[in-house]
Amino acid sequence: MSKTAETVWNNCMTFIEDNITSQAYKTWFEPIKAVKLTDNALSIQVPSKFFYEWLEEHYVKILKVALTKELGTSAKLVYIIKMENTYGNKQPFTEKIPSANRSNLRSQEVDVPLKNKSPELKNPFVIPGIRNVKIESQLNPNYNFESFLEGESNRLARSAGLAVANKPGGTSFNPLLIFGGVGLGKTHLGHAIGVDIKDKYPEKTVLYISAEKFTQQYIESVKKNNRNDFIHFYQIIDVLIVDDIQLLSGKAGTQDVFFHIFNHLHQNGKQVILTSDKAPVDMIDIEQRLLSRFKWGLSAELNHPDYDTRVAIIKNKLYRDGVEMPDDIVEFLANNIKTNIRELEGAIISLIAHSSFNKKEITIELARKIVDNYVKHTKREVSIDYIQKVVSDYFQMDVDTLQSKTRKRHIVQARQLAMFFAKKYTKASLASIGSQIGQRDHATVLHACKTVDNLSSTDKQFRKYVEDLSKKLTL
Ligand code: ADP
Ligand code: MG
Repeated sequence: MSKTAETVWNNCMTFIEDNITSQAYKTWFEPIKAVKLTDNALSIQVPSKFFYEWLEEHYVKILKVALTKELGTSAKLVYIIKMENTYGNKQPFTEKIPSANRSNLRSQEVDVPLKNKSPELKNPFVIPGIRNVKIESQLNPNYNFESFLEGESNRLARSAGLAVANKPGGTSFNPLLIFGGVGLGKTHLGHAIGVDIKDKYPEKTVLYISAEKFTQQYIESVKKNNRNDFIHFYQIIDVLIVDDIQLLSGKAGTQDVFFHIFNHLHQNGKQVILTSDKAPVDMIDIEQRLLSRFKWGLSAELNHPDYDTRVAIIKNKLYRDGVEMPDDIVEFLANNIKTNIRELEGAIISLIAHSSFNKKEITIELARKIVDNYVKHTKREVSIDYIQKVVSDYFQMDVDTLQSKTRKRHIVQARQLAMFFAKKYTKASLASIGSQIGQRDHATVLHACKTVDNLSSTDKQFRKYVEDLSKKLTL
């Protein structure tokens, strides 16, 4: 008897039903439809992306066991995400994205087993001698401009991104450097520019790469003795998007090779887009010649989203996941999670998950409980004022003395320690730390951080100060 998608899936369902709670089965498995079976790949349709992520997160093992029983060890599972009214998407079904992208967990059609936390590095080198090899962009189609909501906090960066996408290499925004704190949309915007360019200029070679992966590839190329191939590969790209460029900090070899690639691309009118969690002036251990190039184009900051933008982002996410949530809860979330869009999304996902698991309505109480978890789990940021107070108390001086212009050694040391801890425990820029600790400039703060580092490795007494103060500040 030949197997059909339906019979295979029914058998899987029977097995799964026996092995998980009936509540979970009803919530997560009953809504799934088997769609097709080709060779050993079973395609199933799930109601939303959220659903798919949840299955992957919680049921990938049991799915794999069930499917292997039915189809043998080469079994594959392909998710098809059904999204009616897909926000900003023209097609009802999404396309397959290149396998190297799967680790992003964003792909919409995915094979099992893919719970691959540290996927092997896909080496995108062009094999020397082979021409016209197509380079996969490594772009995530879900991270596009339409899903990147505009607000005061991102207007400049977003418009600059759009301008670059309209005329890659043809604006003065080259490089375009997008910087801002964690979870504020740097990666999303970087992809969006690439996706838009691919859309408008399909013939252009676009490549998205994280600085981390770039570094790994570079190291690999040195090991394999093909550094030149590495450079050559990057030099034929039309639009290069490098994410989290601050990670090149302290890596002289990688910086050097990036410098050459950058120059080549820039001279040839190719577009470079960079993201970083810091402004160029605050980047540490990045060579001056690179820093100065980062500043050639435009540096655009992503700030914390304002209330209206937060509400819009929540509503958009709910809409895309096909979930309804009362307005007062949306407002509650927007009021309570302010500084990180990723956390905001995380809270929404937990909330939906809790309520579907317990078959409970989404209530304010539930929302409060979840937000509490988030707030508790996020590190509380100590303020620069608090740091100055703790350091002054410890050395038995007052804050005015600590900030004064005196060059007395013990006061200078206290001030340097305050700067060092401000750098370590807050997200403030060097310039802003300097201005808050006695009107110093960013170079003074940088110098203070280095001095503290040096002294704590050479001077025992000083190391004790650092340790004592760390304890006090992190209590
Ligand atoms: P970063 O790279 O700055 O840490 P990400 O780009 O990964 O941040 O964004 C974190 C999450 O927030 C992503 O899921 C992203 O889609 C979402 N996000 C960020 N900015 C926006 C925005 N303006 N509109 C909609 N979603 C956003
Ligand atoms: Mg990022």
